[in-house]
Amino acid sequence: MIPPLLELRDIRAGYDGITALHGVNLSVHAGQVVALLGPNGAGKTTTQKLAAGVHPVDSGRLLYGGRDVTGISSRDAARSGICLIPEGRGVFPNLTVRENLWMMTFTGRSREEIEEIAFARFPILEKRAGQTAGTMSGGEQQMLALTRGLAADPAVLLLDELSMGLAPLIVEQLYEQVAQIAREGVAVLVVEQFATAVLDMADHAAVLVRGRVEYDGPPGQALKAELANLYLGSAS
Ligand code: ATP
Repeated sequence: MIPPLLELRDIRAGYDGITALHGVNLSVHAGQVVALLGPNGAGKTTTQKLAAGVHPVDSGRLLYGGRDVTGISSRDAARSGICLIPEGRGVFPNLTVRENLWMMTFTGRSREEIEEIAFARFPILEKRAGQTAGTMSGGEQQMLALTRGLAADPAVLLLDELSMGLAPLIVEQLYEQVAQIAREGVAVLVVEQFATAVLDMADHAAVLVRGRVEYDGPPGQALKAELANLYLGSAS
């Protein structure tokens, strides 16, 4: 059997001695979109950060393609093909769209190649090429963040709150692209607090509540019906 591209086994992690994740198990295969849901403070961002080597693991194991990489640095994780697009989009607001893209030439790709990747996927970015990124709409900034990530040719894409502050139609368009990226073989882990749009395109879903996976299964109607209870349970 082909191992998942990303796997968390019984991971515990926290901040200053306070445990935020209490033994989390999660896996994402190539070509799969996994939605990681949960209320405020559930540990979703922490999970993504440790998957990208940005936050340390206290115990448990982190595996890439079946290989134990627990303790990996963020730099080596990026080199291994893990790409984290953090909440807040990760674009340079004072640089133009084109300059934001050019910064990805450290990946070894030429400016032209990177522009081609970006503009083919999101033609609007070509129209905005000379515009400062910070003056674009939230959706356009998110498109730029996504294409910057893709320039690194990731095997695993970690997206944190892609839909934050965006209109439903824009979110739908972005998710269509995310599904397409997965179809090209990338393993995608999408963190979202509010679930509807992501569940329509995800292949699998996990729900974190107070640092524990309380649901791990299909993203269909049964989960949608259960979700409110899971979230409400977290408030008690
Ligand atoms: P949200 O949807 O609100 O972003 P989340 O599910 O992503 O929440 P995390 O950000 O992973 O949750 O936080 C998990 C827990 O860890 C929370 O209790 C939070 O207060 C705590 N935490 C997160 N970052 C830090 C930090 N830098 N220092 C101390 N505690 C932190």
